[in-house]
Amino acid sequence: MIYADNAATTRMSKTAKKALTEMMDGVWGNPSSLYVHGQKAREALEEAREKIAAAIGAEPREIIFTSGGSEADNQAIRSAAEIGKQKGKTHILSSTIEHHAVLHTLERLQKEGFEVELLPVSEKGMIRPEQVAEAIREDTCLVTVMYANNEIGTIQPIAEIGNICREKQVLFHTDAVQAIGHIPVNVREDQVDLLSASAHKFHGPKGIGFLYARKGVRLTSLIEGGAQERGKRAGTENVPAAAAMAAALEEAVARMPETAARLTAVRDRLIRGLGQIPHAALNGDAERRLPGNVNFCFEGIEGESLLLLLDDRGICASSGSACTSGSLDPSHVLLAIGRVHDVAHGSLRLSIGEDITDAEADQIIRDVKEVVAYLRGFSPIWRDLMAGKKPFIL
Ligand SMILES: *Cc1c(COP(=O)(O)O)cnc(C)c1O
Repeated sequence: MIYADNAATTRMSKTAKKALTEMMDGVWGNPSSLYVHGQKAREALEEAREKIAAAIGAEPREIIFTSGGSEADNQAIRSAAEIGKQKGKTHILSSTIEHHAVLHTLERLQKEGFEVELLPVSEKGMIRPEQVAEAIREDTCLVTVMYANNEIGTIQPIAEIGNICREKQVLFHTDAVQAIGHIPVNVREDQVDLLSASAHKFHGPKGIGFLYARKGVRLTSLIEGGAQERGKRAGTENVPAAAAMAAALEEAVARMPETAARLTAVRDRLIRGLGQIPHAALNGDAERRLPGNVNFCFEGIEGESLLLLLDDRGICASSGSACTSGSLDPSHVLLAIGRVHDVAHGSLRLSIGEDITDAEADQIIRDVKEVVAYLRGFSPIWRDLMAGKKPFIL
């Protein structure tokens, strides 16, 4: 099997698994308990917090553990909205290519009376910092722009946007789920106030993530209960998962230069290879792009059929995001970069991991070429395109 769907989830690293099992065996106490066994769990939890903080240039007290990226996004946005409301500021700026954890939270806030403005992206999937500067108003309480896109891999100018928000004194949140552990992120340099991350996207366990909230940014709890996480996230902490997440992140950060160089080389090999397919186009920016992300549209085919046939050949890939596939709507991200419905339907996302070999990359190129040609062989849309009844778009 060739696993090329790391943007959906990653396999746990050996280091993370070791931390997880060691904690489950030895440090399973409740961190809120006062006896030594509980206090050992508390120490392990705080050590995990310190490691995570160090990995992103934060202070330990600025990190709270959540169940994952979605919860962190929800809490970050809700908290900023609450702070805004108290000051009579109800305008929120975001982008059209955010993850649904952000978009759906914003939709909910809109129903509660907030005004949500989604900035359009360029055809390469980029937001310009000036767009943010121009759109910020007196009553803007939050700017939320993702660090890197989960579908097309574009990396946004986060430090520039952060700088604008800091100058205009508007809270800035970034969904960094695809960036953390893959590209360098530093919350001080980037001037972000709130940042979301998820362990299973960087070879940690599923069901755990974290929210960074700059000192002084008051969080609203989504879950009522005990006083865990300084009263901002009730519920007994998942110490083994937190320790495993910290171990995975520490390892990912230490190996980042090496991993990123390797992935970038294979990514560009795939982009060159797949780019040879006629009437195909790369989605997203060729340079400002996650090291492991490849995303193409192939005219005249259905992404779902392509995925099933690649699965038959042992290749795990994705078309649009996992949440979008299974529904008939094409990806909102591909529509946002200007792909028309028919073309957006024929998309393929490969998100490779560091263990991929050159031979596997070449295998992917061969298989995608063959399967695309095969599917076009009985596609009515392709027939019309070839007969000149419809103009080619790509
Ligand atoms: C995966 C993902 C999320 C959701 O994270 P979970 O831990 O699965 O809840 C949010 N945002 C982005 C960009 C993601 O890729």
